[in-house]
Amino acid sequence: MITDQLNQIWSSILAFSTQFITPDWGKLIVIIPYIVLIAVVGPLLSLLVLAWLRYGALRPRRKTVFVDPRRHASLDAAGNPVYPAGEPYDPTAGLIYEPGATLSVSGAALMVACPKCGLVRNAARDTCGNCGLSFTLKPVLRSSGAASRPSGGAAAA
Ligand SMILES: [Zn+2]
Repeated sequence: MITDQLNQIWSSILAFSTQFITPDWGKLIVIIPYIVLIAVVGPLLSLLVLAWLRYGALRPRRKTVFVDPRRHASLDAAGNPVYPAGEPYDPTAGLIYEPGATLSVSGAALMVACPKCGLVRNAARDTCGNCGLSFTLKPVLRSSGAASRPSGGAAAA
């Protein structure tokens, strides 16, 4: 009979396919830790590598972003610090601050010399008590790119 033959073929197909469909659980349980290891450690490792690459790519830029705008005042022949007119400075530390600064890192008031008459006053005041020159110093960006910009600006009142 043709149906008997078909049944026989069908059962042999089933028997053949079960080799693939029915998993060998004993073997599978043994490899589960490896699958978990690959599934968990693999992405973690690639994330670590990505983070490391990101850090390496950002590090040189980060170094130039935070440039300390303060600088030590140069000394004259007598050993006294020379402060350029119009730039705030901390006389106790001998440090020149960025334009626009009024307080030192320790919280002390900064001084500034008038660019016109040379009178030293508190950096928080924008008008000279002697000659009346008023100038506002705009804070410059704390990046290396701002170094090329002219520091400070004076405008006669
Ligand atoms: Zn002045």
